[in-house]
Amino acid sequence: MIDFTDEQIERYSRHIMLPEVGGVGQAKMLEAKVLLIGAGGLGSPAAFYLAAAGVGNLGIVDFDVVDLSNLQRQIIHSTERVGMLKTESAKKTIAALNPDVNVTVYNERLTSENIMRLFEGYDYILDGTDNFATRYLINDACVMTGKTNIHGSIFRFEGQATVFKPHAGPCYRCLYPEPPPPGLVPNCQEGGVLGVLAGVIGNLQVVETLKLILGQGEPLIGSLLIYDALRTEFRRLKLKRDVNCPVCGENPTIKELIDYEEFCGLSR
Ligand SMILES: [Zn+2]
Repeated sequence: MIDFTDEQIERYSRHIMLPEVGGVGQAKMLEAKVLLIGAGGLGSPAAFYLAAAGVGNLGIVDFDVVDLSNLQRQIIHSTERVGMLKTESAKKTIAALNPDVNVTVYNERLTSENIMRLFEGYDYILDGTDNFATRYLINDACVMTGKTNIHGSIFRFEGQATVFKPHAGPCYRCLYPEPPPPGLVPNCQEGGVLGVLAGVIGNLQVVETLKLILGQGEPLIGSLLIYDALRTEFRRLKLKRDVNCPVCGENPTIKELIDYEEFCGLSR
């Protein structure tokens, strides 16, 4: 049934010897399909470690090119790849790390027009975006398709991670029904961040994704994990579903995808 090569048995030996993973769990990871939205701060470490773990099918959505100012945190890219599409750079790094992983790249900006097509064929969506417009779009599409959204965000010295599993726990709109008005949001490109925060939070997203694939442990459904790097403190807040949520509540008012104005980090 599980037909590993000798190389795979050696590569994944530290997984296979874990009773919670074993050969069965490693096979599940090799068959899993995860779509990463963004190959930036969170997407870089997430794609890297998902590939190392042997998650066999990764989709990467990003339309941007590698910039020198990305390299302080976007570790899947490199200095010689400044100017290269981030998707292509990520694909090269993953190919060098683990040939078991099939990478499909989508050099597109996520919109209401293409999101359903891009989501097709993936079981899990890893949200590594840095702007509200895309965050709401991903949330709504996940609720509408029933796909689990592994969410993360970072700012300055703080990061957050949670898992939005439609109807099993709250969604992003249960917490924030509407995006803030454009003028109140700091431009992400101007907002500083301690680069390594991307590694901490992106890898927490990977841990949650692997647990979901394996069916092990308690994923962060209905819990928001907040990491304060300066105080070295993790806090876990309970999140509740809102029965009046406009998208996942009892009487949803949002039945179509919305393209909000892009007011953070994306220029038209
Ligand atoms: Zn909701």
